[in-house]
Amino acid sequence: MSEAVQLPSLTLADLSQAIAKSRTRFKVDEDIDLNRYVKLWREDESWQGTKHRAMTLILRTRGCTWDYQHGCTMCGYFVDTAHRKVNADQLVAQWRAAAAEHKGESILKIYTGGNFLDPAEVMDDARRTIVAEASRLFKLVIVESRPEYCTPARLREVEDACRANGSHFMVALGLESSSDEVCDKAINKGYGFRHFVEAAKACREAGVGVKTYLLLKPPFLTEEETVEDIVRSIADCAPHSDIISVNPTNVQKFTLVETLWKDREYRSPWLWSVLEVLRRGKPAAASAVLKSDPVGGGSKRGAHNCGRCDEEVLGHIESYNTTQDIAFVEAAGAVECSCKPLYRAVRRLEGFMTGSAWVD
Ligand SMILES: [Zn+2]
Repeated sequence: MSEAVQLPSLTLADLSQAIAKSRTRFKVDEDIDLNRYVKLWREDESWQGTKHRAMTLILRTRGCTWDYQHGCTMCGYFVDTAHRKVNADQLVAQWRAAAAEHKGESILKIYTGGNFLDPAEVMDDARRTIVAEASRLFKLVIVESRPEYCTPARLREVEDACRANGSHFMVALGLESSSDEVCDKAINKGYGFRHFVEAAKACREAGVGVKTYLLLKPPFLTEEETVEDIVRSIADCAPHSDIISVNPTNVQKFTLVETLWKDREYRSPWLWSVLEVLRRGKPAAASAVLKSDPVGGGSKRGAHNCGRCDEEVLGHIESYNTTQDIAFVEAAGAVECSCKPLYRAVRRLEGFMTGSAWVD
């Protein structure tokens, strides 16, 4: 990371407390049916040089173990979790309801708002049943997990189950940044680059694919700092990744990021920054797929420009994601808009403004 980055000297306890305070108005829904998944949708996904249809499934689990203890500054996925035990039968019932909706998609992404490989969240029996059944329907099964749950035995088990059905398994790891300082002081991630590398190596040894998430614009970083941080992080994680997904921070409800945003101390990243990290990161990504799906792109809570050029830029990013043709990123960068000089001024001057969001 750049020597110029100035992060507040917050401890784990300080940040965890601030994160907890941002949630005081959140109420758990006690009446939720634990046999029903949260949501399911379909989209295009690029894999091994070809465009595929993918089904994304959000299972309702007890939630993320790290989130129970500390939480991350930008993560609001706890709103979709049960906040109580969801047993193996209920998890399997959720999965089977989703499997009945399968319409020939070749990729399945299972998200839980936590960690699919955490046995406290998705019990061993449920994990085995879901992976065995999913690998009969899909060519690739992707789940998310923190590195600590990527044990060699568990990875071998899921990969063997998939391979038996001619399918592949991939783990998405939220590295966010290869800078431990950014992970500690801006995200409260609770692990560092070396933990990511260990987990990625364990995945590779087991034959499991690795998808790496990077977080563009955590709180407390300027636009300039985060662009440099992500370009460097792409180069650092590329040797360990099959897919690198740059996720621009979106302002999620009941998060510390939302508190800062409401106080005008945070602005989600510009789409111009997304283009720059894709353009500069692409050569360093080498054979790894490099993509970005700006959640809520074009809205005030998501990565956005001025509102006039957003749709055109987002269209080019989407075309780039599925084709991996950098010409789309260049075309997006060539879009003329009056917000470009303003963006350049933000890049130059924001560091002198102590990070406050002075441009919407
Ligand atoms: Zn514009």
